Amino acid sequence: MATEAIVALLSAIGEPLRLTNAQIADPRADELLVKIAGTGICHTDLTVQHGRFPSPVPIILGHEGSGVVVAVGDDVGDIAVDDNVVLTFMSCGVCSSCRSDDPAYCEKFGQLNMGGYREDGSSATCCNGHEVAGHFFGQSSFATYALVNRRNAVKVRPDAPIHMLGPLGCGLQTGAGTILNALKPEKGSSCVIFGGGGVGLSAVMAARLVGCDPIILCEPVESRRALGLELGATIAIDPRAEGDISARLMELCGGGVDVICDTTGIPAMIEAAVQALGIGGKLGLVGMNSMDAMATLSVVSILSKGLTIKGVIEGDSNPRIFIPYLVDLFMAGEFPLDRLISFFDISQINEAFAAQEKGAAIKPILTFAS
Ligand SMILES: [Zn+2]
Ligand SMILES: [Zn+2]
Repeated sequence: MATEAIVALLSAIGEPLRLTNAQIADPRADELLVKIAGTGICHTDLTVQHGRFPSPVPIILGHEGSGVVVAVGDDVGDIAVDDNVVLTFMSCGVCSSCRSDDPAYCEKFGQLNMGGYREDGSSATCCNGHEVAGHFFGQSSFATYALVNRRNAVKVRPDAPIHMLGPLGCGLQTGAGTILNALKPEKGSSCVIFGGGGVGLSAVMAARLVGCDPIILCEPVESRRALGLELGATIAIDPRAEGDISARLMELCGGGVDVICDTTGIPAMIEAAVQALGIGGKLGLVGMNSMDAMATLSVVSILSKGLTIKGVIEGDSNPRIFIPYLVDLFMAGEFPLDRLISFFDISQINEAFAAQEKGAAIKPILTFAS
């Protein structure tokens, strides 16, 4: 018996999303059906809508879902009906990265997350009698129900407010994990974060947890700088107001910077980061704006300072461990993700996309009350 759902469908690149009825097939043995409580909007959803990533259409986007399990396949085992789950990225489970508990670098990451279909090319979801891409990031959670694989559902404690936890599945684990898992700055080291969106502000919160000092947020939007200061940044600057951003950062840090996290993907910022880092400095590259962005880096700076430049996907996270850890921090008041969130009803999905794109909302979450 298929499940009747309401989904936000992207019919063609560049078009607004439209709510429509859909039918979702029953879970296979390794799948579960989740009644969605909330889904965050992440930059990647906008990127696909604008055609900058090669995902198929028609497609149901949404990859920061969370909710309650309503049906499980026979082989799911450790997740049961009525469990609360956060949905995260999909991985194959059998490649060398997956076997090393490093699923963010799954060899099939692109196909399984951007491809819109299951690994075997099928989809569980039909709209108006036609199959649509219903497995974006293994979840397609701009919908009242999502059919997901056991591998991309993470069970979380039942006392946490499940409707606001979805962004932990992508944007928030990306920012926090870049600091805590990938760059691992020491207490007291200087940390600079480029960009004060959901990813950057999560990095700020993580840098505060570590005890970095100073923590400098570079962000053009004034309200985001102000929030960054409340969440743990010790200094917030507008990069557009600085003549030489590298020189300014070195001045603020009393020499070269220890750790920089770039969430912007802007080549000029990445080039500035290489100049600003000190001896043994580390640069984490998290943001990507287009498939063909190129940066020109000073070879002598990288060599002479012994720099580490690390690309980071999904915060180098093993979600099954890292997401419950972040939930515990949130519940203890140490990772106040609620400060990033604004709620929109699913009927306002296009307004929510626009708010995120303009910077008016940091982390919109769509809810499904109506
Ligand atoms: Zn894999
Ligand atoms: Zn994302």
